[in-house]
Amino acid sequence: MTRDPRYDILFEPVKIGPVTAKNRFYQVPHCNGMGRSYPSSMAEMRGVKAEGGWAVVCTEEVEIHHTSEHSPLIEGRMWDDNDIPGFARMVEKIHEHGGLAGFQPAYTGFISANLYSREIPMAPSHTPVEGFDPVSARAMDKNDIKAVRAWHVAAARRAQKAGFDIIYDYCGHNISIQMHFLSRRHNTRIDEYGGSLENRSRLFREILSDIKDAVGDSCAIAVRFAVDELLGSKGISCDAEGRDIVEMMAEIPDLWDVNVSEWSNDSSTSRFSEQNAQLPYTAFVKQVTNKPVVGVGRHTSPDTMVSLVKNGVLDMIGAARPSIADPFLPRKIEEGRPEDIRECIGCNICVSADFRAIPMRCTQNPTMAEEWRKGWHPEYIPANKSDDTVLVIGAGPSGLECARALGQRGYAVTMAEATTELGGRVTRESRLPGLSEWARVRDYRESQILKMINVEVYMDSRLKAEDVLEFDAAHVVLATGSSWRTDGMGRVNYEPIAGSATGNVFTPDDIMDGTRLAGTVVIFDDDHYYMGGLLAEKLTHDGCQVLLVTPSADVSSWTHNTLEQVRIQTRLLEMGVDIIAHRNLVAIKSDCVDLACVFTDRIETRVCNAVVMVSSRLPDDDLYYKLTPLMDKSSIKTVTRIGDCLAPGTIAAAVYEGHRFARELDEPVSDGVPFRRELPQLAEN
Ligand code: ADP
Ligand code: SF4
Repeated sequence: MTRDPRYDILFEPVKIGPVTAKNRFYQVPHCNGMGRSYPSSMAEMRGVKAEGGWAVVCTEEVEIHHTSEHSPLIEGRMWDDNDIPGFARMVEKIHEHGGLAGFQPAYTGFISANLYSREIPMAPSHTPVEGFDPVSARAMDKNDIKAVRAWHVAAARRAQKAGFDIIYDYCGHNISIQMHFLSRRHNTRIDEYGGSLENRSRLFREILSDIKDAVGDSCAIAVRFAVDELLGSKGISCDAEGRDIVEMMAEIPDLWDVNVSEWSNDSSTSRFSEQNAQLPYTAFVKQVTNKPVVGVGRHTSPDTMVSLVKNGVLDMIGAARPSIADPFLPRKIEEGRPEDIRECIGCNICVSADFRAIPMRCTQNPTMAEEWRKGWHPEYIPANKSDDTVLVIGAGPSGLECARALGQRGYAVTMAEATTELGGRVTRESRLPGLSEWARVRDYRESQILKMINVEVYMDSRLKAEDVLEFDAAHVVLATGSSWRTDGMGRVNYEPIAGSATGNVFTPDDIMDGTRLAGTVVIFDDDHYYMGGLLAEKLTHDGCQVLLVTPSADVSSWTHNTLEQVRIQTRLLEMGVDIIAHRNLVAIKSDCVDLACVFTDRIETRVCNAVVMVSSRLPDDDLYYKLTPLMDKSSIKTVTRIGDCLAPGTIAAAVYEGHRFARELDEPVSDGVPFRRELPQLAEN
């Protein structure tokens, strides 16, 4: 296939100081939960992005000194020369495919409690560290400032040695010391580093010229700058100091990588922000500088990318999440098959891995972070090793991915779906407020399966055990999903809640199936991810008065990991939802519920018309128990449960399980650890 000439502009080279990017696709720095702990995995993942056509591939934030470290989070680490080889491996993998490698040093001041090194963190002014660690950062004196500048230079020199092409001066996300000095909130100094904008930006500018002097002969020097903190007059804003800074430094860096701060604004989820939401803040930058400008916005549409370039808004298309969901996005456009792009859904499961200090995972891309340890490539998969046929039952995310990947391997696959639509929970949930982009999980797989002559799909076909036998398949995969419990059992309640069998009790499944509730509704959320908060939003829209009861301290607690919790709670409070925290639901009566304080067991009664139980889900695995006893009388070799049918979890987990089954069919089974490990190095003595 040939590229659509409309997209030619995206493949023009861009000169960035002393180096040249081969096209306009730029993977901006992003965390990945591998960095210092799993450097081989990190290097392979970055290399695959370069192979997929990204002209620039950057690191995550990289610690540059032991006085500012991210433990327990896993970021990059360039403390001394011992850290060079890990990064050199990454650079080598990127260069192999003609990409440029970018390095983002991050000295994070009062953001880091230094739990590992036990060093006292430093900041422009005395302040407690962010979060709840009982640690304070001390105000930096002039020697400290000199030292921080020198550490940036040392890290830049090491990065140059490792082969990096682009080195950053990082002033963004309310994370780096440059940003802390710049901020009136955090900088109360009265010396030449405090007060006026010129003074507050001094460290930012000094580090830029230091790095330029040190490595600017062969490396491009980029600035990552948050032009707006979305805090109005309390912060940097694009119509005041954000703009002034860009004007002040316009031609000094070789490239401007601009965004909004903090991370929850920069990586806002699709539930809360449209694609390109940063444009109103960042669009001015190109009018102020002649240097190339990079910007992010969950870009997945080549038409939008072209218009951003043509309209003089951006020179390079920045992406973190779209490059995670589809490392081959540029290649697919280049090869004239943009319809094959696996579009990011904006769910931030990738972000959650960073907060949990584990290798990154992605809802759309099950191979993410498995490139090295399992040898999984996002685009290629080994061919089938037998002519065995496979019957996949259920077309939710796990069934769809399983059928797609098996089809890609060349197996003859039949997929049967009970309902008249594909996508299972993804289709149902994508109809809830704000989740429409989640349907991309289905759409990508559906479009791929439609192209495969070896994958047959039967809709409206709820299979029973006897039906399955008739298919005569060698392997049967049960991807039949799960159902929400009505009895309230979950994390807090180990027994059914009194009255749950007789009361006016509904589940998220009922609401998604169209049940309309009225009056006062109690939502009991012992699930703590998005569903409880989302139903509160929906039912309030529908006209109900909602009481959201949670044993946790806040609503949708787990969504702290997806950067959404504050937005969810704010939205619900503004809508008038009554949030009742630290309470368990202990009894359901005809017109009220009893709630118990999780600390004191003190009971309070609330009047209501209905209860929606968002506690936990049970696998829909009846078929498994009916089918397995019949296997002896059939030609079926294996029956396997995947996704929610095995154990209900995230959509990302279901996609991964579907992919895993397809990868492992007919492959030798290891009786040890089923992936390569990166072991800690034992000292000589
Ligand atoms: P997962 O997240 O594991 O993919 P889902 O609940 O999203 O699970 O999807 C399960 C799908 O399986 C649903 O679309 C459901 O209609 C379908 N399904 C359930 N039981 C059967 C069955 N016996 N025969 C065919 N399809 C089924
Ligand atoms: Fe996009 Fe979700 Fe994948 Fe992150 S996890 S890259 S937000 S699809």
